[in-house]
Amino acid sequence: MSLKLDGKKLSLEIEERLTDYISSNKKIAKRAPGLAVIRIGEDPASGVYVNNKEKACSRIGIKSFIFHLKDNVEQKEVEQLIIKLNSDKDIDGMLLQLPIPKKFDEQKLISHINPSKDVDGLNEVNIGKLVKNEPAMRSCTPAGIINLLRSQNITIEGKKIVVIGRSLLVGKPLSLMLLNLNSTVTITHSKTLNLNKVCKEADILIAAAGKPNLVDSSFVKEGAVIIDVGIHRLKSSDKNKTRLCGDVLLEDVISKVLAYTPVPGGVGPMTVTMLLVNTIFSWQKQFGLSSTLNDLLP
Ligand code: NAD
Repeated sequence: MSLKLDGKKLSLEIEERLTDYISSNKKIAKRAPGLAVIRIGEDPASGVYVNNKEKACSRIGIKSFIFHLKDNVEQKEVEQLIIKLNSDKDIDGMLLQLPIPKKFDEQKLISHINPSKDVDGLNEVNIGKLVKNEPAMRSCTPAGIINLLRSQNITIEGKKIVVIGRSLLVGKPLSLMLLNLNSTVTITHSKTLNLNKVCKEADILIAAAGKPNLVDSSFVKEGAVIIDVGIHRLKSSDKNKTRLCGDVLLEDVISKVLAYTPVPGGVGPMTVTMLLVNTIFSWQKQFGLSSTLNDLLP
């Protein structure tokens, strides 16, 4: 039987640790950790994600500040908001909810976020430190995946790992984190030839292509671990209903794999949890608090 890597369960366990950490350190810090979320426009999925982040913060004792801007706001105004939040002493972490409307220069906005508050780990200073394998804010989805593997004692060092996808949000930072942990990483993408053959070499295969059901059993080696980052809402046979699926056709691969992540309930919940972890790290640094959460940092 293959092992389900239950991100929902692990995220609740980590949340318990975070709740205890905040309540036992709040007396010293004299305030709760603070997270600012900037949302621009009306993308409905972003609305759901921001809501989830707000709820997660309130579950564990982080104060959230939501800035929902209209899409007719100017780039300069968003930059000014970021600069103001950079110097706001009640805010430890800040993120720009992606995607944002195309008229904005997304990278320029992210560059304005103070690296020590960049809880999504997307600012070039944090990416640069990741390249150099120095401690810094790590992007949340990759960091969540590494915690999920570690939680089941799945060895990373020495393993052949294939990552499908080279985005700045997932594929690239994840590949660097896995390299820093001494695995042999192959990064693949939409122009990779013979993708299934390359993937079939993997001890651990990570699918982050954003293509529903791309990975079938022809991609998977017997006994591999498979991590599904993709998340897609598809119409089900009953026209009024929808269902979620990932990049992996699970029913086709499950009999071959040692372990797998479900969609939903795998990588997704861990992403939100790592956002909380990063916010607390920033808070912890500011007040010189005890560092009992270091095992969560890849
Ligand atoms: P993206 O579109 O920015 O990048 C996709 C990458 O996959 C690109 O590098 C592209 O070259 C590659 N790719 C596309 N089609 C391919 C194909 N047929 N074969 C091989 N490679 C291919 O997407 P992203 O932001 O990296 O997100 C990827 C997926 O992960 C999406 O489904 C997204 O919704 C999901 N996601 C989930 C979480 C989570 O918390 N669960 C977080 C971030 C992203």
